[in-house]
Amino acid sequence: MSKTTAILDGKLVAQARRAALGEKVSLFRRAYSRSPGLAVVRVGSDPASEIYVRHKVEACESAGIKSFHIEKPATISQEELEKLIDELNANPDVDGILVQLPLPKGLNETKATERILPSKDPDGLTSGNLGLLLAGRARVAPCTPLGVMKILEHYKIDVEGLSAVVVGRSNIVGKPMAQLLLESNATVTIAHSKTKNLRDVTRAADLVVVAAGKPRLLGKDDFKPGAIVIDVGIHRVAHDGGKSKLCGDVRSEELLGHAKALTPVPGGVGPMTIQMLLENTLTLSELRQKRNI
Ligand code: NDP
Repeated sequence: MSKTTAILDGKLVAQARRAALGEKVSLFRRAYSRSPGLAVVRVGSDPASEIYVRHKVEACESAGIKSFHIEKPATISQEELEKLIDELNANPDVDGILVQLPLPKGLNETKATERILPSKDPDGLTSGNLGLLLAGRARVAPCTPLGVMKILEHYKIDVEGLSAVVVGRSNIVGKPMAQLLLESNATVTIAHSKTKNLRDVTRAADLVVVAAGKPRLLGKDDFKPGAIVIDVGIHRVAHDGGKSKLCGDVRSEELLGHAKALTPVPGGVGPMTIQMLLENTLTLSELRQKRNI
């Protein structure tokens, strides 16, 4: 059993990287006489999306990235949304386009995402970018799994040779997470809702990334002593006195003194996701300048 559990502080890692990013953005501005630009498109009035978008826009400003914040009513048609994306694809000041998901009912998220040029896709979610990732030639990797890799790197956790389990197989988290761990020479298993005896699978792993989207799904008995546990889940749940609080997919209080290392919720993977969005935007800006596109 690990006596102490290291808390992998994603907020701290993101802050350190934000300062470094600010310097890189200044260099970019000096070299090309413009700022990198990120367009954030929000459709409808989902309150959670509103908060996420506000955080993204504020983060852009803090790093010197120009943000284009575009809001459209839920009544926008698929055709109008795609036309907007086409205009942003053609706008030379825009290096990255993000369509905040989920979209209101009636709009096709896959079609909207695929409309973004892969060269302007800082989320790394177009099939073009996911394909490059799978081929080992990533332009940009999806932000959340990339953020997990950067946390591990910051804390000098070398995953080479480790047995890693990723719980979840979404395109946005689980699959690219598995691919990034594989590229770093971990031996990777992907678990999902049809996995039999999940506990046996996770208990065998040195490193477990939990992205099941189920509040407090896994606890102490699901991990071997000394495991490294990355909790990607984020949920707002009811708390005492009608208040609510955030929790992850892991019952983290059970893991203190049991796991070797653990990401907290909040303050773990979440802050890194936004930071990676900014870093990916700068990467795309630099690529566009170099290739003159
Ligand atoms: P999805 O709902 O798209 O995917 C969840 C995955 O978990 C699916 O593959 C599903 O399996 C699997 N799963 C569900 N229940 C179980 C179970 N009981 N046992 C094993 N596997 C299970 O979610 P996302 O990947 O988009 O997100 C996952 C979590 O991460 C969510 O809580 C989300 O809020 C959070 N998140 C956090 C971010 C951050 O910045 N911190 C960013 C993005 C997401 P199947 O495929 O069989 O259905």
